[in-house]
Amino acid sequence: MKTDIKSLTLAELEDLAKELGLQKFRAKQIYEWLHRQCAKSFDEMTNLSKEQRAKLDELCEIKNCSIEKKLVSKLDGTKKYLFRLNDGEFIESVLMKYKYGYTVCVSSQVGCNMKCSFCASTIDGCVRNLAPSEILSQVYAITRDNRKEDRDFRVSHIVLMGMGEPLDNYENVLRFLELITNGDGLNIGARNISISTCGIVPKIYDLIEKHPQYTLSVSLHAPNDEIRDRIMPVNRKWNTEELLEACRVYTKQTSRRISFEYAMMKDINDTDECARELAKRLKGMLCHVNLIPANEVRENDYQRSNNERIKEFSKILEAGGITTTIRRSLGGDIDASCGQLRRQSKGGES
Ligand code: SAH
Repeated sequence: MKTDIKSLTLAELEDLAKELGLQKFRAKQIYEWLHRQCAKSFDEMTNLSKEQRAKLDELCEIKNCSIEKKLVSKLDGTKKYLFRLNDGEFIESVLMKYKYGYTVCVSSQVGCNMKCSFCASTIDGCVRNLAPSEILSQVYAITRDNRKEDRDFRVSHIVLMGMGEPLDNYENVLRFLELITNGDGLNIGARNISISTCGIVPKIYDLIEKHPQYTLSVSLHAPNDEIRDRIMPVNRKWNTEELLEACRVYTKQTSRRISFEYAMMKDINDTDECARELAKRLKGMLCHVNLIPANEVRENDYQRSNNERIKEFSKILEAGGITTTIRRSLGGDIDASCGQLRRQSKGGES
């Protein structure tokens, strides 16, 4: 099997260069081609000789994302990409423009095993984990695509909120983080990177201990076990008390605020009583709640709460001392919620 060269750290690339009989400085050149110039092939590496490029090509693979489909919002310029991987699998990523810069939302797996009942990504389970290089490639392909229009285009923030559960592909995600924050690559600040999880508690503790600089986001979606057990099977393994305790530890150890995602689903988790219970359980925690109007997915029957309900819910949380925002829905006109483009491309339900 060929070496997945884009998943290697600079130190590992130096070892590889040595094995191939290349001088040490070549490793840095290759690293910069891959991670700064976002090169898709060895042919682009023009400061290497033809022979050197051929040798690399023979032994190594550059895992890429090619654009299968791209939807651009006319409202706010949000771009949604459907990418094809080298083995023909599809994944999705989104580019969003905020005042502070460009954010890319990346996928961490092809599909997902977490089985949240409202989510389209998990319907056929997890096909496979993404390699570190494949998570990077989403950012690099988007960078290349946008540099065509703006030579200085630069991604400043990353959110691991696309398809998949990042903490269920933990080692590869950690390596992705190491590579994307590296000064010889895109050099994105760790604090500008958010990892979102449905609540894999032991991994949250590991992150707190080893990588406290990343921002943590937790998909909570319910104020208690009764509701959460029903919509998020992961809750049967680590319940809300265990999850919230891990979140408290995160905020204490890191002094950083935690974000809770809460998708508002009509008559499921959106009552006044739910809001009061949520406020009570989060009281005193350094946190923030993001209310998201649920995306209606063809494959299930959930309906989004109406705007009045969301506002009312938000008011109760605020009155209970919990900072709350109603997420501005970017790209409303290309609204294909996560996992849906991929399903369409596979000839999934229409
Ligand atoms: N597995 C991780 C990363 C996925 S992030 C996690 O669960 O956090 C994608 C976010 O979108 C999660 O908060 C997820 O719960 C949410 N989501 C999934 N389906 C949705 C839907 N139909 N409407 C609104 N949010 C949804």
